[in-house]
Amino acid sequence: PEGERLQKVLARAGLGSRRACEELIDQARVEVNGRIVTEQGRRVDPDKDEIKVDGLTIASQSYLFFALNKPAGVVASMEDPEGRQCLGDYVQNRETRLFHVGRLDTETEGLILLTNHGELAHRLTHPRYGVKKSYLAAIRGPIPRDLGKRLKDGIKLEDGYARADHFKVVENTGNNYLVEVSLHEGRKHIVRRMLAEAGFPVDKLVRTHFGPLALGSQKSGWLRRLTNTEVGQLM
Ligand code: URA
Repeated sequence: PEGERLQKVLARAGLGSRRACEELIDQARVEVNGRIVTEQGRRVDPDKDEIKVDGLTIASQSYLFFALNKPAGVVASMEDPEGRQCLGDYVQNRETRLFHVGRLDTETEGLILLTNHGELAHRLTHPRYGVKKSYLAAIRGPIPRDLGKRLKDGIKLEDGYARADHFKVVENTGNNYLVEVSLHEGRKHIVRRMLAEAGFPVDKLVRTHFGPLALGSQKSGWLRRLTNTEVGQLM
């Protein structure tokens, strides 16, 4: 028989085990060439048929996903008219146009996702989907015991309240603190503004997590292809 079983193609694209992918089909969440498919035996050609889950095209060879550990000082745009170092410098000579998912300010380093899947890029930055991000911030102490509570209760900024989901002191060497802040927010300079407003201007800021993705030990300036599993988790 021609093609491959739909659940196998879904599993390979990182959407879960074959059993889990059969469930996606049962739940009428899978579309082939514009039609919902609910029968399990369906055979597809992953290179020709357009397969969507929850309305989004699944990863195929034609979709590229990269995680970059952006160094400080690099502008978070694909091109820079002023010729400063930018994200585009890290992805030269690729055939498809890549978008960056969300922003990091120039002085902030860490994890930024690049993809040619414009629709997914857009969805991941939409406040409605509220992707959780985590940051490590270097601040100077001593810090009050209730700093985490204040951040979680909400800090009043000029454009409204901003709340952290999670706060933790990771390191404390004398007066230098490294703290982890997680939030669903996407407003500009949000972590720097929250901490500054609380009385602790940030000396250095690193994004360590973006949704299911972790920076881990990826070196500064390095680009890596996401695994199929990671791509599946993003969808
Ligand atoms: N918060 C900031 O202050 N800067 C970033 O780049 C991201 C979140």
